[in-house]
Amino acid sequence: MNFTVLTIFPEMFSTLLVGGIVKRAIENEYISVEPIDIRGFTNDRHRTVDDRPYGGGCGMVMKPEPVAEAVRHARKKRPESYTVLLTPQGRLFDQQVAQELTGCKGLILVCGRYEGIDERIREHLVDDEISIGDYVLTGGELAAMVVIDAVSRLIPGTLGGEDSAQEDSFSTGLLEHPQYTRPRSFEGADVPDVLLSGNHGAVKEWRRQASLLRTVLNRPDLLREHHLSRDDMEFMKKLQKDIKTIIGKHSTES
Ligand code: SAM
Repeated sequence: MNFTVLTIFPEMFSTLLVGGIVKRAIENEYISVEPIDIRGFTNDRHRTVDDRPYGGGCGMVMKPEPVAEAVRHARKKRPESYTVLLTPQGRLFDQQVAQELTGCKGLILVCGRYEGIDERIREHLVDDEISIGDYVLTGGELAAMVVIDAVSRLIPGTLGGEDSAQEDSFSTGLLEHPQYTRPRSFEGADVPDVLLSGNHGAVKEWRRQASLLRTVLNRPDLLREHHLSRDDMEFMKKLQKDIKTIIGKHSTES
């Protein structure tokens, strides 16, 4: 998949080549990342990309003309790409959206700066608007890198062992079970015995239950949408019973 990034800081994207899976995915041609400088589509000596907001107020707004030219240029080059504006006002990016975007032939990621981009770009020149979270960044570049990273690792082949993405948190609808590696004992904390047992069935069951428990504790909201198997329900009922017993014991003591 090709990611074309429209930005006034194209050099930021060289960090993707520092190391890790995204670098490998680029080198192995599973993905390509092409940053394009929006300033290249200005016509004045100062390569101006911003202007004061109509109606007053502080900050500057990205002018529509260079952004529109950059989007048109990118679309001409990659006509099958899907154009996404990174904005805190967009739909929230999550694993499902990342998975959905793997179905695109290519992505054109439009990065704002200052107080954002002139509204007419959003209205007329993008297919989608994505926010990476309910906070405001100084620019869309980090958000674009988050999208590139999360989408890339879902493209078959990029991870090497493809199973690893399927088992990740959110891919299964739950948080992933805890992970351990050597040493067996670390600063007095031991790896759970079951993981050393060589019993694949028991390991699988432990992981599923650990995953359920972690999700109940940290992100119970995820379970509202998630289908639970009969075994899962039995585990949850046992958990509920244990919790009730503990609460009952403590309330009679207090
Ligand atoms: N004034 C804008 C608002 O309140 O919606 C925020 C502008 S922000 C300082 C500048 C740029 O950073 C935005 O145009 C957008 O491209 C990017 N940005 C900031 N927060 C983001 C987020 N949570 N997700 C995606 N992009 C974000």
